[in-house]
Amino acid sequence: MLGQMMEMPLTIGSLIEHAERYHAKTEIVSVETSGARTMSNWGTVGANARRLASALRKLGITDGERCATIAWNNRRHLEIYFGVSGGGMVCHTINPRLAPEQLVFVADDAQDQVVFFEQTFLPLVAKIQSQLKTVKHFVLMGPRDDDAADLIGGLKFYDELIETGDAEATWPKVDERAASSLCYTSGTTGNPKGVLYSHRSTLMHTLVGNQPDGIAISAQDTVLPVVPMFHVNAWGVPYIAAANGCKLVLPGPNLDGESILKLIDETETTLALGVPTIWMNLLAALEASDSKLPSLTRTVVGGAPLPPSMIPKFAAYGVELLHAWGMTETSPVATLNQFLQRHAVLSDDEKTELRTGQGRPMFGVELRLLDEAGELLPHDGKTQGDLQVRGHWVVKRYFGKDADALTDDGWFDTGDVSTIDEDGYMVIRDRSKDIIKSGGEWISTVELENIAIAHPQVANAAAIAARHEKWDERPIVIAVKTPDANLSETELRAFYDGKIPSWQTPDAVIFVDALPMGATGKIQKNELRKLFGAHLITGEDNNA
Ligand code: ADP
Repeated sequence: MLGQMMEMPLTIGSLIEHAERYHAKTEIVSVETSGARTMSNWGTVGANARRLASALRKLGITDGERCATIAWNNRRHLEIYFGVSGGGMVCHTINPRLAPEQLVFVADDAQDQVVFFEQTFLPLVAKIQSQLKTVKHFVLMGPRDDDAADLIGGLKFYDELIETGDAEATWPKVDERAASSLCYTSGTTGNPKGVLYSHRSTLMHTLVGNQPDGIAISAQDTVLPVVPMFHVNAWGVPYIAAANGCKLVLPGPNLDGESILKLIDETETTLALGVPTIWMNLLAALEASDSKLPSLTRTVVGGAPLPPSMIPKFAAYGVELLHAWGMTETSPVATLNQFLQRHAVLSDDEKTELRTGQGRPMFGVELRLLDEAGELLPHDGKTQGDLQVRGHWVVKRYFGKDADALTDDGWFDTGDVSTIDEDGYMVIRDRSKDIIKSGGEWISTVELENIAIAHPQVANAAAIAARHEKWDERPIVIAVKTPDANLSETELRAFYDGKIPSWQTPDAVIFVDALPMGATGKIQKNELRKLFGAHLITGEDNNA
């Protein structure tokens, strides 16, 4: 017997329709590519998104066709998110820092029909336009610009394009299982792979991901996604924001500590989200300023391990750090670190310890651990193994592939090595491609980095495996000192004494001015391995 309740498709159009109808006046602050700040609101974003959907139809773009963006977080990008997906097409957010040949690869793989791009990327798009074979329309995200028009034949301008759309257009009926947006993995090994989200998976992530024990955004919040809109849909924040009608602050191109601090203080941001390097830079800016971050109550930190030493530093400003884990393949949030009732009695130190893990799965996500032989491992908080996941917003098959990306029994292998305790609290010990195998024993790079970063004279650090004649691999640490530091290699190595078994102490510490960062703000350890992987054998580094 079937239930007898109404059925309404879970679509992205319905999200923006809600925001336009009930939160029309709620502000959207947008930092433009020029650095200027403009104000919009959900009413305008909704109306422009409907117009854009209609304009794209008039250009001949049909159901399920891909429209790409190469853009920062700003109001036009938000309108494109909803206009393209709500209109039944697929929004493909391209990571602008991909090497040009990878960018051409993903646009071609996605068969993008339209490319919306920011002024910043005009030279890049002008250079590769002839290689973007499937693209029929290039749209500069701004008003008419005659100089730009000279560089790209037939160039369209966003502000003019939406004028061609019907102001009265309504959202079309879309199957909730239809594709809505497309994100590619970063492709550190091999070519990037596309993950094609559906309306349903996006709505499930929006609804479940925002429970009180999830991201917990309310209409009273002012939310700053520092995480780029090209990094797994800014972790789903634009959708959650529309569903809940919060004020949004979109930070544009300037993501350095000073700019973010100023933006938080001036817009009275209550919740911000981003990768750990963003918060490290914010802390440095904070310490050099008079600000006490009065408005900010919490940040969601994910994408890379949260250094535990950051937790008390932010607590001093009254800011709670919520650690979350996910990946492009999990839309992304799969676990989030919120306490259980019985944790209320823990001491501050015990709470900090618990917070350093990646948290427990939200309803709709299941986790398991396997050993190298594929046998299930216990969830005892101690046994570490390969982390697998399944759930309503987890990938089944990569875009354009003809086989599923799952184990025979339907789980996705994350490439992370973790422990899980009996409450489901999961701790990432390392990525399997980063973990150090020293004479048959494993050493966690995350643990070595957390110790280095806790040193007051270390601004940032990465641990990598260096090749070793006797042990195959040994740990070395590549570190950036704080300004005015006078730390030596011996001193930093001695800082490990008593904190880990002595055989895990890094064999060498190399100080550098900066660590190589990917476009999403993660340290590129593969680059470090290329530069320093032979350090213990030849004593020579590739960048010497
Ligand atoms: P990539 O890092 O390959 O560009 P993703 O953005 O999809 O692609 O990153 C997913 C990976 O990032 C995860 O598999 C995990 O290794 C790492 N990651 C994400 N969040 C965390 C976290 N909170 N702690 C540790 N690692 C994390």
